[in-house]
Amino acid sequence: MSLLSVSGITKRFGGVVANQNISFRVAPGELVGIIGPNGAGKSTLFDVITGIEWPDAGEIRLEERRLTGLRPDQVSRLGVGRTFQKLRPFQGMTVLENVTVGALQKCRDVAHARREAQEALERVGLGEKADAYARTLSTGQRKRLELARALATRPRLLLLDEVTGGVDQGSIPGLISLIQDLHRAGMSLVVIEHNMRVIMAMAQRIVALHLGEVIADGPPEAVTRDRRVVEAYLGQAYA
Ligand code: ADP
Ligand code: MG
Repeated sequence: MSLLSVSGITKRFGGVVANQNISFRVAPGELVGIIGPNGAGKSTLFDVITGIEWPDAGEIRLEERRLTGLRPDQVSRLGVGRTFQKLRPFQGMTVLENVTVGALQKCRDVAHARREAQEALERVGLGEKADAYARTLSTGQRKRLELARALATRPRLLLLDEVTGGVDQGSIPGLISLIQDLHRAGMSLVVIEHNMRVIMAMAQRIVALHLGEVIADGPPEAVTRDRRVVEAYLGQAYA
């Protein structure tokens, strides 16, 4: 059985069709990459999966549970965690407090939430930054903070929106190994990623989006050689 089933999702913003009849599945334990040019509808798809936006058509399921129509906190409690492309930590709060806010989505007991948060911070290598203010972190560290916040909700499925985007080159290998460690530990992941080196290192399957539509879905080697993917996204240099 699939862990995540996305079936015929269409999402419009006025005249803009951000997602057009999108379908794909994620098996338990799988790491699926999503690629596509800016504006292809990748982040919108995560918004629809996590209940931030409701689709005009289609359905999302986590195993047999219907997610469509649920609020973000309900989707989070069912086990879908996500990071945002645009980072928005609470700058005036400490790293631990930021992650505790995430943990409180799932458990109401503040002391317990703090322990979960600390554990999530250790997991992403930010344990020693727990008491630092979020505003003092580098971009790479903020990406880790985002990851910790998502992990603190104890997700079964993790959606990562451009985790390596805007991060200095030196911090990228560490982020890759972190995601690979999570995957090896059994986490199912969907990863939006622009860096082809990163996606080729991680993904078992790639879904390519263009103008809101799925134009390819398959093994990384096949998708990156697909004519439409090369034309729409990768360009001749890559081919
Ligand atoms: P990607 O993440 O692939 O770069 P997005 O999902 O952010 O693409 O955007 C897809 C399209 O939907 C773009 O044309 C974008 O301008 C539009 N869009 C996204 N969110 C909104 C919104 N909240 N209101 C209006 N248009 C939006
Ligand atoms: Mg985006």
